[in-house]
Amino acid sequence: MIVKLKNNSSADERKEIFNLLKTHSIAFHVIENDHLIVVSKFNDKTLFKNKNVVEAIFEIETPFQLASKVWKTTTEIKVGNLEISANTFSMMAGPCSVENEEQIFKTAEFLSKSGVQFIRGGAFKPRTSPYSFRGLGVEGLKLLHKAAKQYQLKVVTEILDLSLLDDVYQYADILQVGSRNMHNFYLLNELGKIEKPILLKRGMNAKVYEWLLAAEYILSGGNQNVILCERGIRSFDPQSRNVLDIGAVALVKELSHLPIIIDPSHGTGVASRVKSASLAAAAAGSDGLIIEIHPDPSKALSDKEQALNFDEFSDLMKSINLILPHLPYGKKISQINTPVFNY
Ligand code: PEP
Ligand code: MN
Repeated sequence: MIVKLKNNSSADERKEIFNLLKTHSIAFHVIENDHLIVVSKFNDKTLFKNKNVVEAIFEIETPFQLASKVWKTTTEIKVGNLEISANTFSMMAGPCSVENEEQIFKTAEFLSKSGVQFIRGGAFKPRTSPYSFRGLGVEGLKLLHKAAKQYQLKVVTEILDLSLLDDVYQYADILQVGSRNMHNFYLLNELGKIEKPILLKRGMNAKVYEWLLAAEYILSGGNQNVILCERGIRSFDPQSRNVLDIGAVALVKELSHLPIIIDPSHGTGVASRVKSASLAAAAAGSDGLIIEIHPDPSKALSDKEQALNFDEFSDLMKSINLILPHLPYGKKISQINTPVFNY
């Protein structure tokens, strides 16, 4: 249950409500700036009868409350002058890992020419083997930031561990929580205390409810800027790195107000299947895509099998731009800069 207090409520009025809940031994959680009280496992509106300070009460049956669509229909996330939401289609692309200056600057230049506004790239990489390339660390963040600045792109990069927050925060516009960290509740909790947007990837074996509860950790900390990212779940079939759950787009949109984008690169694991999955994602109503590209995929230090080269990415962009205006999702303004179509 979410109790929304009036924005102009006084400290005394709020205190009265808190005391009321305390007297009834009802556990609650306050989101200060948004004037929200989250009361889990309690759905009795009558307690707040005649309480003037209460603006609205939402009875929410699901375990996730703030992530639920019951109390809020959409979330528009601002990243500078850009917006990630159901009103827009955002394209994010870049290498799996930032490898060197030439690679990241070439990529940034190409993205800027292609009209893409977000560059992705990992500086701290979660690798299955400790002997694999694990990223350039802070040096990688600096290169990514420098390249993004030169070509006026926004940076998406992974926060692998809380100890890296100060560095990542400084250089990122959007902080990515990787699939392996979706259940790192302490990290999620701390990311709730910042205001920059969080790209929360679905755990590779997480149910949608678990994913939305992971989002709830961030939201309940006070950070309302959460973007969900479906990146495929584990299956029994070795022919595919993961199974991209396209159906999760519609499901999440039924359950939550949070924007959701798709990662077809990790979702398929194979470059030749990325275009098909991307088009399916757009058609399913995804609010954007995050795609791995590389100037020379054969030389990529991580995830080379799934990286698109620049020609393949241009071809994908053409197809995406072709279908976006025809999709039945209202006015989805493309945040791809190329003036391929106008509304
Ligand atoms: C990545 O984006 O390069 C990455 C490691 O993603 P995931 O957490 O989805 O595996
Ligand atoms: Mn990768």
